[in-house]
Amino acid sequence: MSALLEIQGLHAHYGAIKVLHGIDLVVPEGQVTALLGANGAGKTTTLRAICRFMVQTSGSVSLAGQPIDNRSTEQIAKLGVGHVPDGRGTFMGLSTEENLRLGSYARSSREGMAEDMERIYGYFPVLRSRAGQQAGTLSGGEQQMLAIGRALMGRPRLLLLDEPSFGLAPLIVKDIFAIMRRINQEEKVSILLVEQNAKLALELADTAYLLETGRVVLGGSSADMRRNDAVRRAYLGE
Ligand code: ATP
Repeated sequence: MSALLEIQGLHAHYGAIKVLHGIDLVVPEGQVTALLGANGAGKTTTLRAICRFMVQTSGSVSLAGQPIDNRSTEQIAKLGVGHVPDGRGTFMGLSTEENLRLGSYARSSREGMAEDMERIYGYFPVLRSRAGQQAGTLSGGEQQMLAIGRALMGRPRLLLLDEPSFGLAPLIVKDIFAIMRRINQEEKVSILLVEQNAKLALELADTAYLLETGRVVLGGSSADMRRNDAVRRAYLGE
């Protein structure tokens, strides 16, 4: 399986606060890779560092063999990296449909926009019934769906998903994870998933990494990670 995203020696800091201390990781093409870790380990910062969003970085990051660590956030989005940030990044005063349209800014052409919108409504039918509704009035689950839908409008090759389960009821989370699996399988979109709920993440992911205080301390197939004693004790509550 070839690497879609390859990170080597990635450092990140917010001013004087150093958060990532040289991490290496790979997201294989077509796969779901999970990034696990406790609060404050640096998971959100890793996603921000990949798209050079709100954090200073050094180190090498490449997408399909092409370096992106010298590109702007906007260029990285145009090259096919869709970021669903923590807090979801929804424009609360705009409607659902306007938010989806904004997601297409990362594409080179507007062609096929109506079809893409239909495809997204196919995954998330509730968004169609909320098309004209102000995004700020959507439920938490609907807002998460909208955030994923908006990223998909950019036709990404790689989706960076930050805590999609955050603050949502278990049944909604189950639905959203099932749809993420379909998106991965049907659209061939690779996913790097940050998730505090390790059990859920390991069910969806093919491979996973464990981050502790800004360093990768473990990596492997999800099956191996599930069998690892330290992971079981600290992250699976077993
Ligand atoms: P959580 O699940 O709690 O979000 P995380 O693993 O995603 O944890 P990060 O959000 O990446 O962790 O935070 C890592 C460290 O970076 C924390 O100590 C946090 O306080 C710090 N940090 C995050 N954002 C900023 C910022 N904008 N300015 C300064 N420090 C920050």
